[in-house]
Amino acid sequence: MTIKEYIKARKEEIKAEVAAMPKKPNLVIVQLNEDEASKAYVKGKLKDAAELGINAKLLKFPVEMSEKALLKEIAKLNKDKKVDGFIVQMPLPKQIDEEKVKLAVAPEKDVDGFHPMSALNPCTPQGIMNYLKHEGVEFLGKNAVVIGRSNIVGKPMAKMLLKESCNVTVLHSKTSKEDMARYLKYADIVVVAVGRQHLITKEFEFKPSAVLVDVGINRDENGLHGDIEPGMPVALQTPVPGGVGLLTRLALMENLLKIGR
Ligand code: NAP
Repeated sequence: MTIKEYIKARKEEIKAEVAAMPKKPNLVIVQLNEDEASKAYVKGKLKDAAELGINAKLLKFPVEMSEKALLKEIAKLNKDKKVDGFIVQMPLPKQIDEEKVKLAVAPEKDVDGFHPMSALNPCTPQGIMNYLKHEGVEFLGKNAVVIGRSNIVGKPMAKMLLKESCNVTVLHSKTSKEDMARYLKYADIVVVAVGRQHLITKEFEFKPSAVLVDVGINRDENGLHGDIEPGMPVALQTPVPGGVGLLTRLALMENLLKIGR
């Protein structure tokens, strides 16, 4: 199933689940930045919520808001019994420490799964795992390579693949091109979360049975591009756009439902 078909089918299931709930889950999205990417992400999340019958409210604050004032608003949301879950849309303006904000969100309301004590996983790796499992991708004893080691994508992705008993290798900016080629050649599952347009090209050799997941979002005047060149000769390659971004959005709603239950 393509990602679009999968999302459509899952949305129907979630819609039915929400319709059967005695109380609709309440989500709050906190937004400070108003750059094109943040606006598009927030718009997408509000659209998904509306489509699924989830109550979502946008709480917009000025981009010059102080860290102290934002932390005060987060404390209010933590206490608000009407709010099941909330997210603070990242990235945040420079005057605010993102790590402090991630730790300020109560773990039981942390639908983004960013807090170390959160019972939920971050949405991007969670959305990827859900899709790969749905597609019947095998994990046990398979060679998985994750390129990128950020706290919100690369590291939790590696942890989740390890939990499924993959042999996991994590590569990063200090990995040489020769080593990268060596690891990729034997990989069964590759997740690229770097943010460099077409870092991975057909120059690299892959198993024809390999599964390539492209997390990267790189914008230019022609639109969005992934970290992997399109049309790789492998069994499965997720597209950009219309790939991991959609899986991430879906996982946010699934995380909210896990809290609301
Ligand atoms: P990040 O925090 O900037 O981390 C990027 C990682 O890539 C770092 O670990 C860095 O290594 C590594 N890296 C940089 N250059 C490299 C190179 N030449 N070769 C190998 N590794 C390299 O980014 P992120 O938040 O994880 O996001 C990564 C990409 O995914 C971005 O394009 C972002 O927009 C996108 N993203 C998409 C979604 C979605 O829903 N589709 C969600 C989240 C992120 P070091 O640690 O050594 O610096």
